Amino acid sequence: MSQSLMQEYIEEAEKALLHTYNRYQIVLDKGEGIHLYDIEGKKYLDFVSGIGVFALGYHNTAYNDALKEQIENVIHTSNYFYNVPAIEAAKKIKKISGMDRVFFTNSGAEAVEGAIKAARKYAFLRDGNADHEIIAMEHSFHGRTMGALSVTGNPKYREAFEPMIGNIKFAYMNDFDSVKNLVTEKTCAVIFETVQGEGGIYPATGEFMEQVKNLCEEKDILLILDEIQCGMGRTGTMYTWQKYGVKPDIMVTAKALGGGFPVGAFLMTEHVAAHSLTSGDHGTTYGGNPLAASAINKVLDLFEENHIIENVNSVSPYLEEKLEELKEKYDFIKERRGIGLLQGLECTKPVGDIIGRALEKGLILINAGTHVIRFVPPLIITKGDIDEMISILESSLYGEES
Ligand SMILES: *Cc1c(COP(=O)(O)O)cnc(C)c1O
Repeated sequence: MSQSLMQEYIEEAEKALLHTYNRYQIVLDKGEGIHLYDIEGKKYLDFVSGIGVFALGYHNTAYNDALKEQIENVIHTSNYFYNVPAIEAAKKIKKISGMDRVFFTNSGAEAVEGAIKAARKYAFLRDGNADHEIIAMEHSFHGRTMGALSVTGNPKYREAFEPMIGNIKFAYMNDFDSVKNLVTEKTCAVIFETVQGEGGIYPATGEFMEQVKNLCEEKDILLILDEIQCGMGRTGTMYTWQKYGVKPDIMVTAKALGGGFPVGAFLMTEHVAAHSLTSGDHGTTYGGNPLAASAINKVLDLFEENHIIENVNSVSPYLEEKLEELKEKYDFIKERRGIGLLQGLECTKPVGDIIGRALEKGLILINAGTHVIRFVPPLIITKGDIDEMISILESSLYGEES
C-alpha cells in the first residue's frame, strides 16, 4: 500500500523536529470558525482552540485583514522607538484589566519571567537584600523557561533541569494555611493561576484569593496572578480575578491575547511600577512590535464588537449542564470542575484513549494531566456546537482500551 501524503509529512517531521511532543498523527492546514481541516480535507470540531488561543475562531477576516494592513505599513521597529499599535494596545489592555502599566512579551513564559523579575526588584528596593523567596503552588503551570519552570509545581517537568532559580517554595491552592506557613521576611511574592489549567482545572476560591491578598498587603508581598489560560474572557469576565474583586499587584496574560499571533504581557499597578523595574532592567527585541500589537488591538476590538464575553456567559451554563449530565450517567466520570469555557472532567482512568477515539470521529479535545479531559473551545461556540461535541464525546467514552 502506498503511503499517504500525510504519513510522508509526519515521517519528515519526525526526522527533523526535536521529539518533545507526542503529536497526534494529523497534519492540519486550514481553519474556519470553530473547525480545523487536515491536509486530506477531514473536518474537526475544535474544543481546544490551539490551547485557549483562538478565542475568536479560525479565519476571522476582520482579524486577518488588520494584520495584513499592518504588514503593509511596518512589521517591526525595535523598542528604542514608539509605535502607534503598541500605544493603542497598551491603552486597551489597561482598560480591560484595570492594571496601570504593561510590558509586552512574545509568550506566556516570558511574561512570567518578567513578573518574577519585577517582584524580586520590588523586594530588593524594599530591604536592600537579594535573596528573596517566592511562594508558588503545587500542580501549577507557568511555562517552560527556567524562571517559569522554577515556579511550576510539577516535579516531572523540573527534575532533569535542576537547579532551578533559588528560593521557591510550594504551597497548596485553596489551602491558605499552607501559604501562610511558608511566609518569611524574605518572601517577595505569591504566584498562582486564578484557575489552574494544565494541573487539572482547579479554580481558586474567592475566600482563598481574599485571604492571600490580605496576607500580601499586610506583609508587603506581591500577589502575582497568572491569567494566561483562564484570562481573556474565557471564564465570563475579562480576567478571572475580576469576579472576586481581588486585584493582583502583577498579572500575566498571553494565549488568547494575540488571537493566534504569539504575544504575552505582564502588567502591574502604578505602585509596583514605581518601585520595581526601571530603565535598563528588562528588555525584549520583539515584544510589542507593531505587528504583534496590531493583533492585540484587533482582538480586543473584536471582543467588544462581537460581544464575546456575553456569548461565554450565555453558552457556558449549558456546557456545564451537559458535562454534569455525563458525570451523572457514567460512573468513571468523577467530577466536573471549571468556570465558563474552561472546564475539566476528571475520570477514574487515564483519558488518552477517549481523546484519541474522539479525534478519529472528528472532535479535538485535550487532557489536563492524565485523568482530566479539558474543554477550552473558541469563545464563539454555540449551544448547537456543544450538543455536537457532547454527542461525539459520549460515543467515544467506551471502546477498545489500549
Ligand atoms: C500556557 C501557559 C503558560 C505558558 O505560556 P507559553 O506561551 O506557552 O510560554 C503559562 N501559564 C499558564 C497558566 C499557561 O496556561
